[in-house]
Amino acid sequence: MDTPVVLIPALRDNYVALLHSPNGRNVAIIDPAEAEPVIRYLREHDLQPVAIFNTHHHPDHVGGNRELQKAYDLPVYGAAEDRDRIPGLTHPMYDGDRVTPAGLDRAGVLWDIPGHTRTHTTFVFPDDELVFAGDTLFVAGCGRLFEGTPEQMEASLSRLAGLPDTTRVYCGHEYTLKNLEFARAVEPDNPDVEEKLRWAEEQRQRGQPTLPSTIGAEKRTNPFLRVRERVVQEAAQARGAAGDDPVSVFAAIREWKDRF
Ligand SMILES: [Zn+2]
Repeated sequence: MDTPVVLIPALRDNYVALLHSPNGRNVAIIDPAEAEPVIRYLREHDLQPVAIFNTHHHPDHVGGNRELQKAYDLPVYGAAEDRDRIPGLTHPMYDGDRVTPAGLDRAGVLWDIPGHTRTHTTFVFPDDELVFAGDTLFVAGCGRLFEGTPEQMEASLSRLAGLPDTTRVYCGHEYTLKNLEFARAVEPDNPDVEEKLRWAEEQRQRGQPTLPSTIGAEKRTNPFLRVRERVVQEAAQARGAAGDDPVSVFAAIREWKDRF
């Protein structure tokens, strides 16, 4: 399947994603950290933006909203609960709402998967096997718990893990190398982690992104999706996990990563 997504590096390590319409001329802008590189790309490639999607309210995900709206008069889709925190929000939405902006010609659905923040949106495009996971699921990692609980984040990650293995995962940051180094500390004998780390090092040396991943690849390499694996449970217990249930294991691994 062709990938209808382009990544624009922004700020220090953010990615702004553009999702193309099937005819290639229109795009939705996902998490514009800043407007300038996006506007430049749109002009260089003669593209018409039709919407902004925001996964959450952090400035490095919504920083370009106002300027892009000024330039293009765009609708902004995001969580209703964040209506006071997402600049220019025009389409406040709830879990399960359909996302079908005019001109995009793709059918998305919005999931509310909290944990990184008290509400956090993921845009799922089932027909296209695409998910824009923001700062919930990273390649080989997950977002920090700024406003949510381990219970919420573990449930959110499990929900994402239920998507088909072939689903391509886009996220908000290039954190892959650090995440894989941590994954190797959790599972020193996981050959999939080792292989992905070597590949990611080559990609970064070539100046290429390590996105997208797939749900299947994440299930093999991401310690936060592997909290039901014996070896991850044992690593968590060595770090003080209260039990071997998924939430206790997740909480211990997340705390370990915060200090890694
Ligand atoms: Zn964030």
